[in-house]
Amino acid sequence: MNPQLDLRDGPRDECGVFGVFAPESDVARLAYFALYALQHRGQESAGIAASDEGHIMTVRDLGLVSQVFDEEKLRALRGQMAVGHVRYSTTGSSAWENAQPVWRSDRRQVALAHNGNLINAVELHSELTDQGVQFRGTSDSEIIAALLSTHPAERIEDALAEVAPRLQGAFSTVVMTKDSVVAFRDGAGLRPLSLGMLGDRYCVASESCAFDIIGAELLREVQPGEMVSLGEGGIETRQIVESQRKAFCVFEHIYFARPDSILEGNRTQVSRRKMGEILWREAPVEADVVIAVPDSGNAAAAGYSKASGIARDDGLIKNRYVARTFIQPGQELRKHGLRMKFNPLREVVAGKRLVVVDDSIVRGNTTRQIVQMLRGAGATEIHMRISAPPIRHACHYGVDMSTTQEMVAHGRTVDEIAEELDCDSLAYLSLDGVYEAIRSTRETHCDACFSGDYPLERTDGANGKFALEELAVVRT
Ligand code: SF4
Repeated sequence: MNPQLDLRDGPRDECGVFGVFAPESDVARLAYFALYALQHRGQESAGIAASDEGHIMTVRDLGLVSQVFDEEKLRALRGQMAVGHVRYSTTGSSAWENAQPVWRSDRRQVALAHNGNLINAVELHSELTDQGVQFRGTSDSEIIAALLSTHPAERIEDALAEVAPRLQGAFSTVVMTKDSVVAFRDGAGLRPLSLGMLGDRYCVASESCAFDIIGAELLREVQPGEMVSLGEGGIETRQIVESQRKAFCVFEHIYFARPDSILEGNRTQVSRRKMGEILWREAPVEADVVIAVPDSGNAAAAGYSKASGIARDDGLIKNRYVARTFIQPGQELRKHGLRMKFNPLREVVAGKRLVVVDDSIVRGNTTRQIVQMLRGAGATEIHMRISAPPIRHACHYGVDMSTTQEMVAHGRTVDEIAEELDCDSLAYLSLDGVYEAIRSTRETHCDACFSGDYPLERTDGANGKFALEELAVVRT
């Protein structure tokens, strides 16, 4: 795909999961609205599976939640419990087969929704194939589903207790059988997963914003290495993987999670505003107006403005309906500078020294374009302030950030990046600043894409990305 047209310059390949056990409710509708709230975590495909008296029915397809489901499909998804999934992946070839929930019926029926990335997918895949297990799709999520579906243990909880320690990497997962919905998280707790209460029943979701929309209450996070089984008797919890080191993805706080979600006790919007305040403390600059790159930079821009006393205004207007496009603009449009996503407001920026706040820069294409547009609209100085450290390393835990070589910060100093982006100054928030804002420490988080310190012993190098691709196992 033409990089100029890949309008979301940020990291990709996140997923959102949801699960509910509520026999008195319309579980498919609950899943639908929960996924609707989690749409920001994946826009490529959506799916819901419902279990009705032992029969599991799954509807999944490419597209947004609102495109995949209609009244008729939701009505067909009857049952006592449901799981759902939204997915984003840049791997396009067998996209439909990789839509989730994954359904399998080997020894037991399971429908599974997974957010994360298995590092040892290749080995597990070979082992299962040697045993004659067939795969329909090519996702590592289907490997987890196959391990659970083929496992001889009577109860899914016991199967999971044996399977989970064999999985390496990131997995916040929800699996449904004919009688329960079971959520589990890897020992490091890399990707988020929360437990909610809906009346006297329970639900789980990647983020708490999914609870708000369905009237559920956030109880707590599913702990790293913990399994929570939702069923007729309430909840059953068990530690199934001993966590040696907690490593929650710090990028969830900075970028992925919705601003109204609560992560580790912090309202994300509040943390991001704090990041902006600290950014001012660390990198002040004389300027006339603070503008955000909407919407990703909104909260940090508010914080920067508040701390600095420099007025904030809307200098960039975002087209809210823009999605990825594969249509080439052609020479004529390209000449005029493609303004599909942002348009500057001359009245706000002309003749002004601007502080432009965003939450991250990956490849820098969008930032470069924004700087050009703002200069074109008459800004006299452009000072970029980024509420995260420079991204210089790949993520092996379920997030696609382009290749390291494509990252604008790769092999460049901050001054060199500023030159590359053509801004008058550039400053990033320090890692210490990030942790101050989320009131926590490096010891319990992953910040590998910034620091290069990978929290899990084994990384991509041990079971290379290319090995996965050769086997056509893709991340979800
Ligand atoms: S490498 Fe970055 S994006 Fe990936 S899990 Fe760690 S902090 Fe999150």
